[in-house]
Amino acid sequence: SGEFAGLTAIVTGGSSGIGRASAEELRARGARVAVLDLDPSGLADDIAGFAADVSDRASVASAVAAVADTFGGIDVVVNNAGIGATGTVADNTDDEWRRVLDVNVVGMARVVSEALPWLRRSEHASVVNVSSIAALNGLPGRALYSASKGAVLSLTLAMATDHVREGVRVNCVCPGTADTPWVGRLLAQADDPAAERAALRARQPIGRLVTPQEVANAIVYLASPRAGSTTGTVLDVDGGVTRL
Ligand code: NAD
Repeated sequence: SGEFAGLTAIVTGGSSGIGRASAEELRARGARVAVLDLDPSGLADDIAGFAADVSDRASVASAVAAVADTFGGIDVVVNNAGIGATGTVADNTDDEWRRVLDVNVVGMARVVSEALPWLRRSEHASVVNVSSIAALNGLPGRALYSASKGAVLSLTLAMATDHVREGVRVNCVCPGTADTPWVGRLLAQADDPAAERAALRARQPIGRLVTPQEVANAIVYLASPRAGSTTGTVLDVDGGVTRL
């Protein structure tokens, strides 16, 4: 039972943070959930893990085929896997550009292209891509990461247009600073992690970080049949940062 009853969802990067919260929320609402992650261990018993690297076509193709084989189809794709990068254009090497764009942008195109034959057959096909406030705000010292997330936003709009007549909706969310293991790792590098966390919190208009659950709620809404007429949209879950 639940609004996703009978539907199968793939969540990339679903072993941690926003992806993990999304996978669990989809499961709680009745979806069969497959997590594609570099490390698919430590998942809840009722979530299926598949080892996959979104930067590797053969790996994505075999994992998507295994999901379809296991569950009989694919209805929802949450493209969440992504990596960070710091630096201005003065800092990043060509190899860093290729690597981050390959994971963050081409990775999403790979997963969707492999899943499309199944999505086209679904009555409730939906893709949700995880972009970032970095796409909208030109975050300082994050040129490469911002460019990758800007590309995710544009890819969302283009795919929404390309596939709307095939019954495939495509939307994206732009999270602000969300309290995930990723952000925990960044804070741990600071001289005084507790002070850095307090400063980060103080910079948020809502006075706290975004929770992974709040981002998952937006993702799951866009993925759900309730959002059946919504495609090509960008939903900010950013604690007010972008509009300030
Ligand atoms: P996280 O590091 O906690 O989790 C990311 C997951 O993706 C991990 O399980 C990791 O193993 C997996 N992954 C990484 N590279 C992969 C690859 N090549 N193939 C398959 N899986 C891979 O990160 P998070 O904070 O939950 O971020 C998730 C997404 O949200 C990312 O796309 C990130 O850019 C975006 N985002 C995060 C924030 C934030 O503040 N945390 C803000 C805006 C956007």
